Amino acid sequence: MLLIIGLLIAFGLAVFVATPLLSAKGPGSSTLPVDVTPLGDLKRRRLVVYENLKDLEFEFQAGKIAAQDYRSLRENYLGEAAALMAATQEAEQLRENDAVIEREVAARRALRKITPPQDYVCPHCGFENPVPVKFCGECGTRITDRSRKV
Ligand SMILES: [Zn+2]
Repeated sequence: MLLIIGLLIAFGLAVFVATPLLSAKGPGSSTLPVDVTPLGDLKRRRLVVYENLKDLEFEFQAGKIAAQDYRSLRENYLGEAAALMAATQEAEQLRENDAVIEREVAARRALRKITPPQDYVCPHCGFENPVPVKFCGECGTRITDRSRKV
């Protein structure tokens, strides 16, 4: 019985590992893979685990697997699914962070564009301060805060 469990796990792992590889090289090799992002990969792997779970359920219902083996295999798959789910959430969080940073950068770029640079130019020495300042970075002259009024 242990040998069968081992074989099943090995087979499940083989399918688990091979499926993303196979589908990546799948029928549409001329077209780009639909989703090659880490998130897409995780999702695909999770679907494979669910598929395995379904098969396992089916085999158990058909009486091909002893209850004890069924339970341990099921536990295995569920653990795998949980790990993949956690990894997905992590990846989603990362992607969200990326989006937040991208928005922040875009907002700053836009802000730079709409703010006329002459607002930071020192009226005394003509030094072009790189950021809005109260006092000139070169000579220390107070710079009137025209940008604040906008
Ligand atoms: Zn100055």
